[in-house]
Amino acid sequence: MPLNHKLIYDWNRVDGQELRLAGLPMLDDETLRDGLQSPSVLDPSIRKKIQILHLMEDLGIDSADLGLPGAGPRARGDVLRLAQEIASSKMRIRPNCAARTLESDIRPIAEIVQATGVEIEAATFLGSSPIRQYAEDWTLDFLLRTTEQAVNYARSLGLPVMYVTEDTTRARPEVVIRLYKTAIECGARAIVVCDTVGHVTPRGVRALLGFVREEVVKPSGEKIRVDWHGHSDRGMAVANSLAAFEAGADQVHGTALGVGERVGNTPLDQVLVNLKLMGSLDRDLRKLKEYCEVVSEAVGVPIPPNYPVVGADAFRTATGVHAAAVIKALRKDDVELANQVYSGVPSHWFGLEQKIEIGPMSGKSNVIFWLERHGIATSDDLVERIFARAKQADRLLTDAEVLKICRETKA
Ligand SMILES: [Zn+2]
Repeated sequence: MPLNHKLIYDWNRVDGQELRLAGLPMLDDETLRDGLQSPSVLDPSIRKKIQILHLMEDLGIDSADLGLPGAGPRARGDVLRLAQEIASSKMRIRPNCAARTLESDIRPIAEIVQATGVEIEAATFLGSSPIRQYAEDWTLDFLLRTTEQAVNYARSLGLPVMYVTEDTTRARPEVVIRLYKTAIECGARAIVVCDTVGHVTPRGVRALLGFVREEVVKPSGEKIRVDWHGHSDRGMAVANSLAAFEAGADQVHGTALGVGERVGNTPLDQVLVNLKLMGSLDRDLRKLKEYCEVVSEAVGVPIPPNYPVVGADAFRTATGVHAAAVIKALRKDDVELANQVYSGVPSHWFGLEQKIEIGPMSGKSNVIFWLERHGIATSDDLVERIFARAKQADRLLTDAEVLKICRETKA
């Protein structure tokens, strides 16, 4: 269901469907791998990781990166436990694991598949841009040979391969073709186009993915899944991901709250919100806030109050004009109207409510509404006292402060 209200003229959809997609958009959750590469996060306990995995499943997220088991015994133990959870809870989510193009990174994935019977896609990654090649002293021949060895090795162990080229958004076209072509010839059936450093804008996304479709996927004659993996360095990650879907990506990668390297990955929660608002994904997202809060707590990264949808202030107002409009709509018994009159995102779609508070910018209608909501009888005197106190304050009044005025007025 796209955003729809008879009183909204939707300029996003003047010429029909907002996002034109060939199939259902798929999402890959990188919270437990790329997300944990953020310099600020704590590595959550395995209990928390399992809880997060279940929330991904509840949100209908298609696949999840369980981690990089080649990183050491702890990482490996956690990936094993998560794969066991997928098996024992009969989860639908498709797991994958990151691996450098090294046998020592790929082998542990096959061992976990052996131990659990769960199919895990190997996401083998390799740098592809000239700047990275120069810094690392890599020749193209070396990259091609490494690709061939890694993909062949993973295939020989029976692992499905998604082949990841880091920094694709700054790689030369002929290198993009040769790397993907080699990986596909060796048996990779998914390729991941990466904006590893957060360089690209939607225009570049369309150009690059169009190029990959025409010059790599079509000539291969194979059914190849194309993934998009983006970062937020220029604040473009959500827009880039939506552009990627339109340019033919089958799956987009992201993390809860966008936690990840530097300023982070594409915030998957915001992609979900937009796909729903655009009518491209019909999914129950009432657990979205819980998912974000559990990740926030588990990794020790607080949610900023002004964060879209799940931030504490997302549906909260104390401003007189805004609150008055919301209150009038609520008095018409129209939740749809109340939740959209001053918000581009209807809170009830995400199991959330508008909150009217009282502060220096409030009108008396805020006060009356607040008292009604708290089951307190209104009187002119009480409204006047609360209103006067709010006007003197330099911030919103807390519930406790308003309740105290109520008690004093009664006494
Ligand atoms: Zn990344």
